[in-house]
Amino acid sequence: MKILCIGRNYEEHAKELKNPLPAEPVVFSKPDSALLRNNNPFFLPGFAKEFHHEVEVVVRINKLGKNIEERFANRYYEEIALGVDFTARDLQDELRSKGLPWEKCKAFDGSAVLSDFVPKSDYPDLKNLNFSLIVNGEVRQSGNTRDMIYSIDQIISHVSKYFTLKIGDLIYTGTPAGVGAVKINDKLQGFIEDKCFFDFMVK
Ligand code: MG
Repeated sequence: MKILCIGRNYEEHAKELKNPLPAEPVVFSKPDSALLRNNNPFFLPGFAKEFHHEVEVVVRINKLGKNIEERFANRYYEEIALGVDFTARDLQDELRSKGLPWEKCKAFDGSAVLSDFVPKSDYPDLKNLNFSLIVNGEVRQSGNTRDMIYSIDQIISHVSKYFTLKIGDLIYTGTPAGVGAVKINDKLQGFIEDKCFFDFMVK
């Protein structure tokens, strides 16, 4: 199983990190050892100082596919979840300034928080989903999938040109504005519409 992630997929988030808007999807990956499930706590690693939350809608691939056309992409996923793409931002800035790969700042253990999945049919329109991240009772990130630069179907079509998609693969679809650092004893809760998808502590 692999985890593919899309960067800079919401304009306001790209701006807040002073990144240009992408001419095509920005793609990176995480290994399965990055997964953090079942509301287990996120233990702050010691190798960086600043770990940012990035709340993201996640889709799970349910069919083998390669070179998937956008118009057929909706046949390749039936379930969605909510996750956090934890990012060691200070380390990312350092790696980027040196032109080095992102794995150390993006793909470490616990960096892929994942909720349980729900059928996509629970929602009438995946292109109009409100989702949010609440930290210690305050809304830190609030987004809507209509603001994605690249839609879920466009993402699937794009990444499948490079990577054969297999059953169980996950795609993190990008984060809206409002990212920020977490600290010990923060409580993070994620919502799609009014349903709580995850609720965990930073330790
Ligand atoms: Mg992200």
